[in-house]
Amino acid sequence: CGIVGYVGPRPSQSILLAGLSRLEYRGYDSAGIAVIDDQGDLGMRKKAGKLAVLRDDLESHPLPAGTTGIGHTRWATHGGPTDANAHPHLADDDKLAVIHNGIVENYAPLKEELLEEGHTFLSETDTEVAAALLAREYRAHNGDLEAAFRATVGRLEGAFTLLAVHTDHPGLVVGARRNSPLVIGLGEGENFLGSDVAAFVEHTRNALAIGQDQIVAITPEGVTVTDFAGDAVEVEPFEVTWDA
Ligand code: GLU
Repeated sequence: CGIVGYVGPRPSQSILLAGLSRLEYRGYDSAGIAVIDDQGDLGMRKKAGKLAVLRDDLESHPLPAGTTGIGHTRWATHGGPTDANAHPHLADDDKLAVIHNGIVENYAPLKEELLEEGHTFLSETDTEVAAALLAREYRAHNGDLEAAFRATVGRLEGAFTLLAVHTDHPGLVVGARRNSPLVIGLGEGENFLGSDVAAFVEHTRNALAIGQDQIVAITPEGVTVTDFAGDAVEVEPFEVTWDA
């Protein structure tokens, strides 16, 4: 339901939680974050319930600080509102973390295919199927996360904003969108992603709208936007003018 991503020099956890809190007005039933530190260690925490439940859990059991991260508030469509069904979903031996807004309409046949290959699932969500596919393509594309995204989105039907981080790539968040919103926030030495500008407007008002069927990669130094074929696309910068 709500999505936020961050890369930069600052500890990402508080930025992610603040961004999710600004997206709370959309309604949600669970929340979670994944962060990666400079050494490539991934920490993930997710909880059914309000953001306060996640926040309290993080306070009593802190994650390692990481300057790359993704955060999600979930509005359950496939699988009830439980901790296990909350996002992020992990794959590739817990090295890949994925969050998702929307619905993967063809998740059932894809899940069947992955089950036959011996993949095991920890949740009832359509999202975990997308995460498992992305992990498979990541290995098939020798650790190229953007190439893995291009291969994965071609298999997905329905609506999605998908964001992923991988421990092999500290300082990188990759995302894709179809029939579901995604916006980039441009900072100084840091960049943001959000399902809506509210996710990052307290940090920057310089934004880029991501078009339909596009893939974005953000690092602290810059952003690239391509179509699903991998060709660079023009993106329109805009300034967020409303009062935050
Ligand atoms: N379909 C996904 C799920 O049920 C994502 C729902 C959402 O957009 O929050 O987990």
